Amino acid sequence: MTDKKISFFVGIFLLLFIFQTSSQPPLVVNLSEAKKAVKEYYAYRYNEEMDSIIIDAIQQVKQLNLSKNSAFVFDVDETALSNFEYEINNDFGYVKKEWDKWVFAEKAPAIKQVKQFYDTLISMGIKVIFITGRTEEQFQATYNNLVKAGYTKFDTLICRTKEDFGKTAKEFKSQKRKELTIQKGYFIIGTIGDQWSDHEGGYTIIKVKLPNYLYKVD
Ligand SMILES: [Mg+2]
Repeated sequence: MTDKKISFFVGIFLLLFIFQTSSQPPLVVNLSEAKKAVKEYYAYRYNEEMDSIIIDAIQQVKQLNLSKNSAFVFDVDETALSNFEYEINNDFGYVKKEWDKWVFAEKAPAIKQVKQFYDTLISMGIKVIFITGRTEEQFQATYNNLVKAGYTKFDTLICRTKEDFGKTAKEFKSQKRKELTIQKGYFIIGTIGDQWSDHEGGYTIIKVKLPNYLYKVD
């Protein structure tokens, strides 16, 4: 074997070795420990984190030039409303029948920091629009729940219709923001939501990302 060939094979071997050692296995934790950590996060750290996110969000809004069409888009689940009681009762699992029962009971409480943010925006004359991945069959129950939780002065609640099935949350939500901007004449100054899919895809300025260690929606 020539020196060139030997160095070629040594090179390939080194590359394979580096590749092998650089790809770490995914971090796996014990499920009961993970659930305990999530419960502790919500018991001891969630409120403090939410307080500081909302204080910062209010500062950002105050720096903007507002117009009469300025609007802020709110997500519903784990943003305006908390489903923590459902999550605990179902051991952090999604059970469709139980979830539907929970939605139609209309008893999800407001997340207090988000309600405070909503009150501040309303007092500044900013319009509030809810966009949620909940279905149109859940529209009335969701509307009632929002009102019961104290969100009484919003412009619109937009739920997912049959046309929206098959779209990702990001596609659905950004498309609705585009329609609100182009067809309805709103100027969307920000989005508040617990998933990145509440914010991505344009037609927003301030992105208020809230924590969610319960589930992820793309
Ligand atoms: Mg949400």
